[in-house]
Amino acid sequence: MKKKTMMIHGGHTTDEFTGAVAPPIYQTSTYKQDGIGNLRQGYEYSRSKNPTRSALESLIADLEHGTDGFAFGSGMAAVSTVVMLLNAGDHIVVGSDVYGGTYRVFTKVFDRIGVKSTFVDTTDEAAVRNAITAQTKMLYIETPTNPLLNVTDIARMAEIAREHQLITVVDNTFMTPYFQNPLDLGADIVLHSATKYIGGHSDVVAGLLVTKDAELAERIGFIQNSVGGVLGPQDSFLLVRGIKTLAIRMEQTERTTLEIVDYLNHNDVVTNVFHPSQLNDAQLAIQQRQASGFGGMISFDVGSKEKAEALVKSLKYFTLAESLGAVESLISVPSQMTHASIPRERRLELGITDGLVRISVGIEDSEDLLEDLKQGFAAIQ
Ligand SMILES: *Cc1c(COP(=O)(O)O)cnc(C)c1O
Repeated sequence: MKKKTMMIHGGHTTDEFTGAVAPPIYQTSTYKQDGIGNLRQGYEYSRSKNPTRSALESLIADLEHGTDGFAFGSGMAAVSTVVMLLNAGDHIVVGSDVYGGTYRVFTKVFDRIGVKSTFVDTTDEAAVRNAITAQTKMLYIETPTNPLLNVTDIARMAEIAREHQLITVVDNTFMTPYFQNPLDLGADIVLHSATKYIGGHSDVVAGLLVTKDAELAERIGFIQNSVGGVLGPQDSFLLVRGIKTLAIRMEQTERTTLEIVDYLNHNDVVTNVFHPSQLNDAQLAIQQRQASGFGGMISFDVGSKEKAEALVKSLKYFTLAESLGAVESLISVPSQMTHASIPRERRLELGITDGLVRISVGIEDSEDLLEDLKQGFAAIQ
């Protein structure tokens, strides 16, 4: 089955009982037993299993070419579940410019309870090898990264991880299963903040995990049920609905994104444009090998905090907001918003300057978006 078809027909989203084409929202916490322990279809209590959530979990498992999917109340709950596979004393090697909230939970929560992390540039193989110790149990990467869109070679990283018996986790939020399938490249677990492209409409906060390893699936399922950060039925329904248009949203977004990248490349105020299509030859080759697209995230440098602030204020179709991956175009200044929790010195080391602006391209008419950018830049010049 090809990808667009799978987004409509994948998983088990048609209701077994009624034939309802859209999965019913099973707004129930518990299930009637036909005698003690005599469950219908294995449903006992909705933290453990809920039919609407099961529909979503089977769909995302198919889309990521895995066997088991798991839905959580946020991307961070999914990240935390992955870390809970480890024990106190274990160590994780983490990509240096992972999502700000991921950096925060690793350094401020899991570090405190005994799971230590080392942050390294995962585009640098030697750096990754050097960071691995006898205690290392997991390699956690995000590609392309946020907000500078650097690309890590997933297959190469999974190979290094296998040599050391590490679990490889890939945050695939930016690429989505439409453009990239990390399990096919050797990753053990794929993670999504489904709040972004998968939901796609800025109306749900959710996280997803997928694996094709039976043992990992059992352990993740155990933690999901024990810790309990599960996604509710209404939100599960909204994600199944969002996924149906994921492919066409990604295609439209990417077309417009390439037009905007071209416009920014010819803009005098902009000093640097970051998008996977703009990478050097070696990185570009990796991206083209492991993904079928470049995605809809662009960052660019306008030179100063003042110009960045003035630009975001003057635009009318780019909503100033955190988050990304929605039908509406969003704009942010990472140093003051998504990455504000990272100390300034560290931010500058990572290349997240005060004049860096990030946009998440929506599916509006590209002519309108380009016109808006033109008037915005005219206003700050
Ligand atoms: C947003 C985001 C997260 C966290 O997800 P939430 O749904 O906000 O908890 C993790 N990784 C990436 C890449 C993200 O963009």
